[in-house]
Amino acid sequence: MLTANEIRDSFKSFFESKGHQIVPSAPMVIKDDPTLMFTNAGMNQFKDIILGNHPAKFKRVADSQKCLRVSGKHNDLEEVGHDTYHHTMFEMLGNWSFGDYFKKEAISWAWEYLVDVLKIDPKNLYATVFEGSAEEGLERDNEAASYWEQFLPKDHILNGNKHDNFWEMGDTGPCGPCSEIHIDSRSEEEKALVPGRELVNKDHPQVIEIWNLVFMQFNRKADGSLEGLPAKVIDTGMGFERLVRTLQGKTSNYDTDVFQPILKAIANMAGKHYGDNEQDDIAMRVIADHIRTIAFSITDGQLPSNAKAGYVIRRILRRAVRYGYTFLGQKQAFMYRLLPVLIENMGGAYPELNAQKELITKVIKEEEESFLRTLETGIRLLDKTMADAKAAGKTEISGKDAFTLYDTFGFPLDLTELILRENGMTADLKEFDAEMQKQKQRARNAAAVETGDWVTLQEGTTEFVGYDYTEFETSILRYRQIKQKNQTLYQIVLDKTPFYAESGGQVGDTGVLVNEFETIEVIDTKKENNLPIHITKKLPEHLEAPMMACVDTDKRAACAANHSCTHLLDAALREVLGDHVEQKGSLVTPESLRFDFSHFQKVTDEQIRQVEHIVNAKIRANIPLQEYRNIPIEEAKELGAIALFGEKYGDHVRVIQFGNSMEFCGGTHVAATGHIGMVKIVSESSVAAGVRRIEAFTGARVETMLDNFQDTMRDLKALFNNAPDLTAAIRKYIDENAGLKKQVEDFMKEKESQLKSKLLQSVKEVNGVKVIKFTAPIPAETVKNIAFQLRGEITENLFFVAGTVHEGKPILTVMLSDNLVASGLKAGMLVKEAAKLIQGGGGGQPHFATAGGKNPDGLSAAVDKVIELAGI
Ligand code: ATP
Ligand code: MG
Repeated sequence: MLTANEIRDSFKSFFESKGHQIVPSAPMVIKDDPTLMFTNAGMNQFKDIILGNHPAKFKRVADSQKCLRVSGKHNDLEEVGHDTYHHTMFEMLGNWSFGDYFKKEAISWAWEYLVDVLKIDPKNLYATVFEGSAEEGLERDNEAASYWEQFLPKDHILNGNKHDNFWEMGDTGPCGPCSEIHIDSRSEEEKALVPGRELVNKDHPQVIEIWNLVFMQFNRKADGSLEGLPAKVIDTGMGFERLVRTLQGKTSNYDTDVFQPILKAIANMAGKHYGDNEQDDIAMRVIADHIRTIAFSITDGQLPSNAKAGYVIRRILRRAVRYGYTFLGQKQAFMYRLLPVLIENMGGAYPELNAQKELITKVIKEEEESFLRTLETGIRLLDKTMADAKAAGKTEISGKDAFTLYDTFGFPLDLTELILRENGMTADLKEFDAEMQKQKQRARNAAAVETGDWVTLQEGTTEFVGYDYTEFETSILRYRQIKQKNQTLYQIVLDKTPFYAESGGQVGDTGVLVNEFETIEVIDTKKENNLPIHITKKLPEHLEAPMMACVDTDKRAACAANHSCTHLLDAALREVLGDHVEQKGSLVTPESLRFDFSHFQKVTDEQIRQVEHIVNAKIRANIPLQEYRNIPIEEAKELGAIALFGEKYGDHVRVIQFGNSMEFCGGTHVAATGHIGMVKIVSESSVAAGVRRIEAFTGARVETMLDNFQDTMRDLKALFNNAPDLTAAIRKYIDENAGLKKQVEDFMKEKESQLKSKLLQSVKEVNGVKVIKFTAPIPAETVKNIAFQLRGEITENLFFVAGTVHEGKPILTVMLSDNLVASGLKAGMLVKEAAKLIQGGGGGQPHFATAGGKNPDGLSAAVDKVIELAGI
């Protein structure tokens, strides 16, 4: 029996023997593409070639690509674990032809590989072909069918509709019919009862699709019409785990050597047996699947977080933790304990797992622990919601409450439902769905973009000249209009451009396009499928006129200083903290720089200072930039340049060196480190377990910061009579102040007791009630203290009413003894009514109440009003 690793190798050697170049998998987490967060198919990394933005270096390519299908167009998350053949992360084996061979070879090689090489029994194979579409004016893909007929009987070739058998890259762009290969792995008895052809594409767990061959021959335009694609493309994708399962004679992907070791470890941990109970099995499959995804995302540079791709990863991790918690009794963090098994099994093929073991472990453990705390908070909240519902005589909680639990506490609906069921209750699911729809709509509205067709003025691809120039003569190749949030913008592609497009953490250049008639502002430069796009609010009127593309050089220089400084910081951090420091993210703008790196404790103030000193010394040394613009990647590695994990590099790379700092980098840099001026680290914080973040300023920004700092110091010194030792002067002032505060407190207590004795002497008896009435300029707190003390001393018939003013604000206070309250008087009611005279309001308990107001002049009248209202 072939092992998983042997099967992967056999695919590559087969296509190598058919003249294909074998290329590495692109990273699973995609950076620098606003339209896609994760690689979800083998073709993603070739999109720029398929779209014609870049020429194909090899016309025939094959690989095994790490894919993740958990968001956007392909989202299999809810299936995963419940069925046995969808994963979140999986490997897709694929072969491509860019304008070379087409349907005939694609089909016959797929057949040759499956049947002749791997010896799959052809009687278990079915192929689907596109049935055609009247509305598109497309007929059945008879061409593909005719090639299949050379290998398969007609009743194994099935027609498929547009949904299953017509592939599109997006709303616009390359598309075409596809042909899928399905395999029937049921027992002979079952096959005899129901023919496999009736189960193809019917979600039967033993009759599944393994390979999809896409024939891109059209281009979809924005108006929905199709035109022929000049260079036709073959794009195929075969699920590696599904192929392994077929060849190892299993009925579930999880029974193969890809998953068995992890499943065993999970079962051991839970003290259970995989295969005993369906519900437990689902939980074990979910965990076995998700631990791979999470570990690989982290090594690819995507940590769990609160936004975008990071949030997707966080949700996957939470899903696994929750299944473990609910079904396998895992009340403590457990996922991270599966990593040794995962690394033992996949670490050979993916060395990054080993290299980043400590980081993955820390991150997963901390995420688990924090989610378990959230779960507990959620459970408490749910308990309260259930108690409230029960008290109101209901057996259903509202959909809104269930949604709040889901949305705010990350509490999945099925867990809420499970707990409700255990308590004989339900949730209003209709209302929950409605809330969910509302939220989705909000997200859609925010993200909706209308993209027009490209208008091509000249054929060609862009040449970037920005490493050497900030101004360059150029012309427009193509442009299109986009509409987003009621704003119309234009994307312009230039023949040659000095504009740096946002990537590698450095923001895009801004500037202007100038021709003899007009000046158009470029508000940003971004890359889409490797194509630099200049974003403007206006289109030039004279589109064909030659123009100068001019970068805003001040911003560019500030950006370059920050970018070069990031490299120096990286090297200095390694020097001070150790070689475990690895870049985990960066943001370089003209204003500042941000650098995230792996490190397991807080960086101390002394270490920060040490780092600053090292970098500033290098800045003063004015080390010249040494740039290796286009060297073979092997040579770059030999030089010792640092590459990032999870970054996609071509076979030629650029290396940036300043002395002992040497990194793979495509960014723009200063000519010598002296241009950075100076660096100052302004903050150090934690972004996730094991990842720290520093933010720093350089050059003029440091100067401004020092100016502000100096101004503040000057002002402070002036306030302290230019004391030579400012710290000592401030400390003395604080001590003095504390002493004075104490004295004031003592004084107020003294005053309080004097006032109290005076008030005791002023008691007036009215109809047997002891009335104490006074007005004075003292704080409310003092009045309150006195009132309570008097209440302690005069336990019967006390009627205390005070009108006081403090800092211009009038306050009315009333205190009654219990027997007066019992006789029907209410302090709260009295102040509330009387406070109208001081333009205020208030209230309190029956025995004690206060009211504040705006009009101190009405205070005396208000005090009298209280007595009048009491009717004594
Ligand atoms: P299915 O209908 O089974 O979800 P699909 O139509 O989404 O498959 P494609 O987008 O054509 O699949 O992907 C090509 C191949 O990748 C499939 O034939 C299948 O073998 C594999 N594949 C797709 N999705 C998954 C997944 N979630 N897990 C494992 N393999 C997958
Ligand atoms: Mg699918």
